[in-house]
Amino acid sequence: MKRFCSHPSILANAVAVVMLVVSGAGCQRTQPLYKDSQLMMGTIIEVISPDRNAAGIAFSEIRRIDDLLSRFKDDSEISRLNREGRLRVSPDTLLVIKKSGQFWQATQGAFDITAAPLIELWGFYDRDYRLPSDSEIQERLALIGFDKIKIDGNMVEFKIDGMKIDLGAIAKGFAIDCAVQELRQAGIDSALLNAGGDIYCLGDKRGIPWSVAIRTGVNLISSGDLKLKDKAVATSGNYEQYFSVDGVRYSHILNPRTGKPAETDSASVTVIADDCLTADALATSVFVMGKDSASKLAERFNARIMTYADVQNNK
Ligand code: ADP
Ligand code: MG
Repeated sequence: MKRFCSHPSILANAVAVVMLVVSGAGCQRTQPLYKDSQLMMGTIIEVISPDRNAAGIAFSEIRRIDDLLSRFKDDSEISRLNREGRLRVSPDTLLVIKKSGQFWQATQGAFDITAAPLIELWGFYDRDYRLPSDSEIQERLALIGFDKIKIDGNMVEFKIDGMKIDLGAIAKGFAIDCAVQELRQAGIDSALLNAGGDIYCLGDKRGIPWSVAIRTGVNLISSGDLKLKDKAVATSGNYEQYFSVDGVRYSHILNPRTGKPAETDSASVTVIADDCLTADALATSVFVMGKDSASKLAERFNARIMTYADVQNNK
């Protein structure tokens, strides 16, 4: 089988796709903003808040969620489920799996956490990229489909041997939401949390909405900033993790129907929603389904969905 190297010009997945603008105009300068970042969930988690305790609270909650959901930690619930094919899971894991099922249904299967065997086949896990044959793809497609997961109480079970799940398109958004909940419980009402482009703006920043600029490619920055308060924003794109062969770009987001990397009609999709899980899952979904799916999904999930062109034109 032919193997390919990763694209050299792309910084690995620790690149934040969103640039945060912390402008000071018109604010009370007496209140400092604390900024802290940590490498977690395969990306840089950044927390900005006037409360010095915010980052610590957020990081420990995000670590707790990552310990449950990570594919890269051998003892996470997801790794154990993938190894054993059935597992009684915690309420958090169950919630993300059930939410994933809702997005699978709403996207007619474009969003599918059971795509893991395909992602593995194309070499995205070990970064040993390859172009599989049609028969290899067909073989793996037999393992794909959220309807092949049985959920009974807190027992999650795969109906077919060899199935695996990957929460990479939704876990960061969920972790951010959990962190926001912890911050609120601690009485913190102002913070900006960024997990490599999955963002939540809690409250405002000294009386004005948080200002977020979207970076839709290596050098491209949207002309206007989004002004957000108690909202999430997430971006999915094909400029961060992909490999190229003969000028064709193969992205790490797969189309579960074809078994091949999504052939997108927009280089990136940015979603603003009330919670970060929804923004994260919808960004991946519209990246797979294409622009035409955006308005229906936006209505159903009370979200605003912008394609690459919309962001460039500051729509
Ligand atoms: P990122 O995490 O890189 O910011 P996404 O949120 O779009 O981007 O998630 C992409 C990840 O989701 C992939 O790396 C893979 O683990 C997983 N994935 C790929 N294709 C799908 C799909 N069709 N449905 C659900 N998850 C997917
Ligand atoms: Mg996503």
